[in-house]
Amino acid sequence: MTKPNPFEVAQRQLDECAEIIKLDPDVHAILRVPMRELHVSFPVRMDDGTIRVFQGFRVQYNDALGPTKGGIRFHPEETIDTVRALAAWMTWKCALLGLPLGGGKGGVVCDPKQMSQGELERLSRAYIRAIYQFIGPDKDIPAPDVYTNSQIMAWMMDEYSKIAGKNQFGVITGKPIAVGGSVGRGDATARGGIYVLREAAKECGIDLEGATVAVQGYGNVGYYAAYLAKSLLGCRIVAVSDSKGGIFSKEGLEPEAVREHKANTKSVVGFPNTEAISNEELLELEVDVLIPAALENVITEKNAPNIKAKIVAELANGPTTPDADRILYEKGVHVIPDILCNAGGVTVSYFEMVQNFYMYYWDEEEVHERLDRKMTAAYRSVLNTSKKYKINMRQAAYAVAVERVAEAMKLRGWV
Ligand code: NAD
Repeated sequence: MTKPNPFEVAQRQLDECAEIIKLDPDVHAILRVPMRELHVSFPVRMDDGTIRVFQGFRVQYNDALGPTKGGIRFHPEETIDTVRALAAWMTWKCALLGLPLGGGKGGVVCDPKQMSQGELERLSRAYIRAIYQFIGPDKDIPAPDVYTNSQIMAWMMDEYSKIAGKNQFGVITGKPIAVGGSVGRGDATARGGIYVLREAAKECGIDLEGATVAVQGYGNVGYYAAYLAKSLLGCRIVAVSDSKGGIFSKEGLEPEAVREHKANTKSVVGFPNTEAISNEELLELEVDVLIPAALENVITEKNAPNIKAKIVAELANGPTTPDADRILYEKGVHVIPDILCNAGGVTVSYFEMVQNFYMYYWDEEEVHERLDRKMTAAYRSVLNTSKKYKINMRQAAYAVAVERVAEAMKLRGWV
């Protein structure tokens, strides 16, 4: 079965929302496509002395609410349509969380797992040189995403600053703390998801103490989700996975030990005293909470009927196809949609920007408290909208977000 095009999925989600909220057709037409996109090709010298030309993108989807913001992915299968979809989702996410930001996204077609640190640094710097004119602290502010991390953000910030001739910490977020990063950014996406999972469990009447959780993807987001679900909520993490496969333990896993195993062996697979399972099996496990934290389109109309979780907390972007969405809703699964569930990352990225502008840095407690307040408020507004209009949580999240962007567009006289 071919996977749906993520941008067509994003457009379908918007179309559905437009119908529900009776969106002005002119606003709808503008919001169906990105405002600006840049395609670049740039050379990088590899360790063996040869030159390779890489392809990259940066999409600014909509900036009615403020400068665009969104991560950069390094992935061998990156496509412009994935970047467009992710940029659209960033637009709704920022609006939903009440951040004064629009949505953007970037990507480079490359396989960082096959590259040395030196090659990665040269690639990161070359990408920034290629998109320099397009981004900026008050224009478009990138951040990490799949297979990019704080070290890469530091190189990118440094390259931008060198060209600008002055330190420009505010050009990128997700930086290491020593060079303008915010405390609390590392686990922010997962932590935000854990705060809304706590709220969702209250709503569904589920006691999370001892509740079973399966996490697909064990990268930055998946690891912290497992760690925080256990340490903050008392959940039992029975299964986790990565691109090489999954592991299951009825008694529950120690997230930190699994992370160490992955650091040593490059995969969670083979962790002692666990049963090997596939990524497909993980999604269909008998658990209370399922956390997709890898890539798009993993819950489809094919496996949605077999999903047994009571809550699906979408930490990945776009893990559920629209057809699967309908099936989960009819089954009574409480889905915390991606644009709400994983918005903790961009929220703390926004806090990082604010701290960079002020040159004054908050402590961890303050970051966590502010994040909790924003995530909880967003969850409540989505839940109330969902109940008021008898629509599912994703439709409600879209309704709240799209209304806010539409209002800004109207006030600015765009339509
Ligand atoms: P990451 O690169 O740190 O981790 C990705 C993980 O997914 C890795 O463990 C990888 O092995 C696994 N994976 C890759 N392909 C897989 C497959 N086919 N099946 C199962 N696992 C697979 O990336 P991340 O930053 O943790 O991002 C994960 C998801 O969260 C993405 O959808 C991303 O867009 C989303 N997200 C990330 C952030 C953030 O702050 N990092 C914010 C919002 C959303």
